[in-house]
Amino acid sequence: MNMSSLTPRIFTLTNAGQMIGSQIADLLCCDLISPDNCPSKDITRKMCDAFLGNHPIIGVCSAGIIIRTLSPFIKSKHNEPPVIAISEDGQFVIPLLGGHYSANILADKIGKHLNAKSAISTGSYVTLGLSLSEPPKDWKLMNPADVKRITARILRGKKVEIIGDADWIKPLINQSNIYFTTTSEHNRIVVKAQGLPSLVYQKKEYALGVGCIRNCPSDDLIGFVNSTLSDHGISAGSIEGIYSLDLKSDEPAIHDLAQNLGVEAHFYPSETLECQYPNLQNPSEEVYQEVGCHGVSEGACLTRAGHKGHLTIEKIKTSTATMALAKIGPTTTNEGVPRGKLSVVGIGPGNISLRTPEVSRVLADADVIVGYKRYLTLLDPLPRNKEIVAFELGEEEKRCRFSLETAGLGKQVVLVCSGDSNIFAMNSLVMELLELPASNSGVSSMAKKTFVQCLPGITAMQAASAKGGGLIGHDFCAISLSNLLTDEETILERVKRAAQGDFVISLYNPASRKRRTLLDQTLNIIRKYRPENTPIVVARNIGRSKERITLKDLKTFQAEEVDMLTVLIIGNSHSRTFATNSRLNGIEGHWAYTPRGYNKKFRHQKLIKKEAKP
Ligand code: SAH
Repeated sequence: MNMSSLTPRIFTLTNAGQMIGSQIADLLCCDLISPDNCPSKDITRKMCDAFLGNHPIIGVCSAGIIIRTLSPFIKSKHNEPPVIAISEDGQFVIPLLGGHYSANILADKIGKHLNAKSAISTGSYVTLGLSLSEPPKDWKLMNPADVKRITARILRGKKVEIIGDADWIKPLINQSNIYFTTTSEHNRIVVKAQGLPSLVYQKKEYALGVGCIRNCPSDDLIGFVNSTLSDHGISAGSIEGIYSLDLKSDEPAIHDLAQNLGVEAHFYPSETLECQYPNLQNPSEEVYQEVGCHGVSEGACLTRAGHKGHLTIEKIKTSTATMALAKIGPTTTNEGVPRGKLSVVGIGPGNISLRTPEVSRVLADADVIVGYKRYLTLLDPLPRNKEIVAFELGEEEKRCRFSLETAGLGKQVVLVCSGDSNIFAMNSLVMELLELPASNSGVSSMAKKTFVQCLPGITAMQAASAKGGGLIGHDFCAISLSNLLTDEETILERVKRAAQGDFVISLYNPASRKRRTLLDQTLNIIRKYRPENTPIVVARNIGRSKERITLKDLKTFQAEEVDMLTVLIIGNSHSRTFATNSRLNGIEGHWAYTPRGYNKKFRHQKLIKKEAKP
């Protein structure tokens, strides 16, 4: 029932909240995060991480603190964990989010333990004890748009009829204005109110098996399945999931059908499907020769249905697809695997505040998080209940292959890069491995079938430039001085061209312990084309605990100040600096920026004004 299965995290920011916090921690067998065991400034950050990791959150503090902390991450009521505020004196328990089921239930439990009032505000839950918009997972509400009006009708005390029977709807028996009519159908509930469209709930009880030709038009498959179901008098809402052969895991029509039916598609290897050979009604030698099992649609739905399941619709074939339907038995174990997903993400230069919410969300949803071990520490604290796989520096290819192959097994994998994942990071290597044929050092065919997405992040250069105002305010380029993959002549040639072109130049990987001279050579080239007072932002560990950002120029800059944790931005021939009125502004009281040419406009406006004078 949407109840987050993860351990709750309890937070308090004050000594006053400790007592109530510890009582609840004992009640729920979980940890209390408080100033006793965590620096105060980190407590709200941990609260964000817990929220993104889908942990129920209980804050013994003002509701305002929780709201302000979590508001950037609140998206949809359908997938947020319960969030509960408890007043420091323990008198009030207020479910703030995740209220439809679990937050209210949890708040009730805590309220009873503390002998406190639970301030439950979700109208239908208070009065009805359930929310009609969120039936349990194995039921589907066919017309969610109509739920509000019927709920309102019930809450106004008007007569409503419920036809059907299921445990989850039973709390409504206590309502004097609701009349129950039981029927022999145990898979359908209809909620009726005069003059309004009835709510229809359907029990999800069938596994749909499908097969189709490569690039089968989605409309063909969707039309075929829906019309067959309707010919057999079976509601589309009773489909629990779509099942097929793993070779088909990237077949667009199957995923479009899944979306059309509002369910997930899952896949099995042919050996698993072949175990159903004795149970197939329409085995095919031709299919066996082609994919290694005697039937895809019948085999797949029967595998999902379990040994007490049975075929309800035998295989039906069109020129492009096949389908079969099986009633799911009471004990089913093998639900196959979904199409795997690899998200290659940039987590920003340092702490969570410079990370996009989208990246935080995929991290929260991941099964496996992969990365260079140093970057994984930037995720501190590492999300719990995930497999974390750390690689050493230099193991980039291994890291990307592992990520792709693990996604190929049907897992949700996140490959973490610092900054942006396009910029001197893993996107292009992942693409290279995907492009190479499996027979020639590429990744396996299952890895190639995964859904891959690359999510951007804030790169070191952007964060560094912003600290100083806007040194990358006009045309700029980024050059990596790492000579591991690019030879030094090429690097220096690019530096020369960029200097000649008067680009603002950001230098990544500027110097390692062993490689120092390339940076000197680079600066000597740039000095030929730019004045001595050209500003340089030197930014080390941006967004991390030992952040140090200084402003130099081509004359005063010393290459010794630089290591691999530093990014440099060298202005163009127009870049400027100026002192601000306070050391608190910019970089130690100075701004550095590159004008874009607006000053020409200012002058032009001045002239127009002068001319306009009588
Ligand atoms: N993908 C990363 C870049 C990785 S290359 C990004 O978009 O930022 C590694 C180089 O990036 C480092 O040698 C350094 O030059 C720069 N860098 C990355 N993170 C940094 C940070 N937090 N502070 C300063 N420089 C950083």
